[in-house]
Amino acid sequence: MNNSFPEVLSFIRTIYGKEYIPLHRPVFEGNERQYLIDCVDSNFVSTVGSQVDDFERQIAKFVGTNFAVAVVNGTAALQIALQLAGVRPNEEVITQSVSFIAICNAISYNRAKPVFVDVDLDTMGMSPDALDTFLRQNSTLRDGYAYNRKTGKRFAACCPMHTFGTPCRVPEIVEVCEQFGIPVVEDAAESLGSYISDRHVGTFGKLAAVSFNGNKVITTGGGGMILTNDEKLAHQAKHLTTTAKVAHPYQFIHDEIGYNFRLPNLNACLGIAQLEKLKKILKIKTEIQSLYADFFNNKKWEFFSAPEGKTSNYWLNVVLMSSADERDAFLEYSNSQGVMTRPLWGLLSGQAMFRDCQGDDLLNSKWLEERVVNLPSSVPQNQFFKLA
Ligand SMILES: *Cc1c(COP(=O)(O)O)cnc(C)c1O
Repeated sequence: MNNSFPEVLSFIRTIYGKEYIPLHRPVFEGNERQYLIDCVDSNFVSTVGSQVDDFERQIAKFVGTNFAVAVVNGTAALQIALQLAGVRPNEEVITQSVSFIAICNAISYNRAKPVFVDVDLDTMGMSPDALDTFLRQNSTLRDGYAYNRKTGKRFAACCPMHTFGTPCRVPEIVEVCEQFGIPVVEDAAESLGSYISDRHVGTFGKLAAVSFNGNKVITTGGGGMILTNDEKLAHQAKHLTTTAKVAHPYQFIHDEIGYNFRLPNLNACLGIAQLEKLKKILKIKTEIQSLYADFFNNKKWEFFSAPEGKTSNYWLNVVLMSSADERDAFLEYSNSQGVMTRPLWGLLSGQAMFRDCQGDDLLNSKWLEERVVNLPSSVPQNQFFKLA
């Protein structure tokens, strides 16, 4: 075992205490309980209720999009966003291999196939340079659309992700995609509260998806949001996710195959209470990141900080180990000591269902896969980090 490991854990315990330390837990120190009780008392716990609309308006206002449509989870948000971006069966969607499985599942639900391009090391998100190179080498333009030279299929969308909350170079990605007629759908599942200059992520592409799963920056229990500035797309998103019912006081007429993806009102109530604390949560998460950064400053491992001009919500903190062996030793040690740490997701290009999908060399992705370790990143529950 590496003799610096105990030092890392004792530092983590100065922030999070002696008990078992999870990677990321939610905090309910505000109006959560009260709003949930009010919601139950009102009887509007399910698919009808005004808090869903309130929550949507508040999220739209926070991120600065014209519209936000609440859904049952982030994966459903991605699925519908891809459909509305124009993804059809037998088409291809470009995404990054460093990501959570949800994006590949959402692509598959649309009966399309993922194609993987590499990430930048300094953001861990999709590299616009890798994307540009890939498209130049592998696509032909026809009638303003880009087609894969190998498969003949259309590149119907591009889905970059803001990894662990750090914004990727999405303005450049949008620029590249514009030259190839490809709409951008941002996977902003992890990045509520992250900005490029003053602009919130999830506002650069045609559509974006956010998640409110229990381990994200704020939670609705389970939940997600589709973001867009386009009024027509927002209406379609609401329509598709609410069984595509034609508005009528009592008749049930549906004009396409829709989904029952509406966020229950109960979950929206939890979300509204969480949102009241979001700015404070973000401030504390930034403080945690700088405490880690100071600690790792004179250590042999590189600790991840967002590049200049980009504000990360620091959803999950990252330290880079020197090798896969050292990473495994640290994961083994820390988890056996009751400090939850975890490696990067297994690359999506390596998952059984997507192993045959096209991609570039994915050099940075593979490099990160061997070295990334996520450290505990919750808002600590002690008197030094008060949410009140
Ligand atoms: C959490 C997450 C999702 C999916 O969100 P769910 O609400 O869990 O369905 C999608 N993409 C990424 C990158 C995520 O981290």
